Amino acid sequence: MTKNKIDVIIVGAGPSGVAAGITLARANKKVLIVERGSFAGAKNVFGGAIYVEPTKEIFPNFLEEAPIERFNTEHKYTLLTENEATTVSYKTKNTKQNSCTVIRSKFDKWCIEEAQKAGAYFAPNTVVKELIVENKQVVGIKTDMENYYADIIIIADGVNSLLAKQLKLRKDIDPKHVALAVKEVIKLDPKVIESRFNLTEKNGCVYEFIGYPMDKQLGLGFLYTNKDSIAIGLGIGLNDLKNQAINVNDVLEKLKQHPLVEPLIKDGELLEYSAHLIPEGGYNNMPKLYTNGAMIVGDAAMLVNNVHWEGTNLAFKSGKLAAQTAIEALEKQDFSEKMLSNYQKKLENSYVIKDLKTYKDVLHNIDSRTSSFFGYYPKKIAEFFDIFTSVNEKPKKQEFRKYIYSWFKDRNISELISDVTTIIKSVIGVLK
Ligand SMILES: Cc1cc2nc3c(=O)[nH]c(=O)nc-3n(C[C@H](O)[C@H](O)[C@H](O)COP(=O)(O)OP(=O)(O)OC[C@H]3O[C@@H](n4cnc5c(N)ncnc54)[C@H](O)[C@@H]3O)c2cc1C
Repeated sequence: MTKNKIDVIIVGAGPSGVAAGITLARANKKVLIVERGSFAGAKNVFGGAIYVEPTKEIFPNFLEEAPIERFNTEHKYTLLTENEATTVSYKTKNTKQNSCTVIRSKFDKWCIEEAQKAGAYFAPNTVVKELIVENKQVVGIKTDMENYYADIIIIADGVNSLLAKQLKLRKDIDPKHVALAVKEVIKLDPKVIESRFNLTEKNGCVYEFIGYPMDKQLGLGFLYTNKDSIAIGLGIGLNDLKNQAINVNDVLEKLKQHPLVEPLIKDGELLEYSAHLIPEGGYNNMPKLYTNGAMIVGDAAMLVNNVHWEGTNLAFKSGKLAAQTAIEALEKQDFSEKMLSNYQKKLENSYVIKDLKTYKDVLHNIDSRTSSFFGYYPKKIAEFFDIFTSVNEKPKKQEFRKYIYSWFKDRNISELISDVTTIIKSVIGVLK
């Protein structure tokens, strides 16, 4: 046996890596999870919410034992202009548990401890420099200290996967296929959070901000409530940031000063500032997910559903399916590309690739009409509510007519047609 050889090595201890690791450990396979951070979660940034059912699939005990912040019982979708906000709000009963907020530095730590309890080895503070490839077969990893060998390597190193690039399964990340996200965590007393967001003790509220100050870019803002802090941030397509020479920090400052947002975070203490990339390429830009001796999972494989803000669940699922493929391969002692292609088949049969296929053209379609969807329509909707809620000497009919004419005055007919065509194309794309 080669020195330092085990069954499977996983690079990265995010949700995809840990899901793969715990699945393998539970099947009594020898598995090592390697992480460059000083602990799992040290390098990870997200909004964010994890989804209860997919998390339970990997960690059946997590609701009772994991460090959970709040259960999201209220979701607000808010169109912003510089001075106005129009919100559609969905609230469910206090006991419904679809998703919950977590703090990654606490939650990922708990996850890796669960994987270790199941028998996985964990090596923090260890950077994988490159993969060892012999006779076109991936056989190990080079770390900053020593080399380790395994029958299979699972690449779970996140959005900017240098290891997938080394194998030529991915190219350099294209600015069109990635968003830059920035986030602040702001400390507030739990009672203040509950009163500002109208919440009971364990429940939370999520805001999705559409429009200002990202009214000319492909971008969205978010706000999540934790137990005693608020996470506020936004993500903007890297291409738009580059082409429009925008500083993403300035955009976040504007969002924080918006009349709707400012009172929600007022008098809070800034605890943390972070930035991270989010994969945006979707189904059309997924890399090949396997080669001889290796598979790619999670963000490294571009598995993010941006329309629904889902990433951790796709990471969990892909990690689990890669691990199941590895278990079959170990039983047959076959680590060939053909054998590992079963991972891709499993993903295709799961909701992961089905959902990514459903939304494959949505972002691309919207990208060509960002100023309309994120700038013009939020403004027109706010104008409508301004008229609807104002009282002056003018008769309502006259006001509404003027409003309807304004749509045709502000825009030429070809712009309206382009917007309607984009919506129809996107809806047909989703339903077909
Ligand atoms: C701002 C923001 C908000 C988000 N909000 C949500 C949300 O609300 N809900 C949701 O479901 N998803 C959300 N996501 C997406 C979600 O965070 C990701 O999809 C998910 O973390 C992907 O998991 P992963 O394990 O594939 O990658 P990661 O979580 O990125 O983990 C990769 C790990 O690999 C390690 N690593 C990288 N290179 C090496 C190396 N060479 N050697 C050793 N270790 C290495 C890293 O340190 C890291 O720990 C959000 C993302 C961002 C950026």
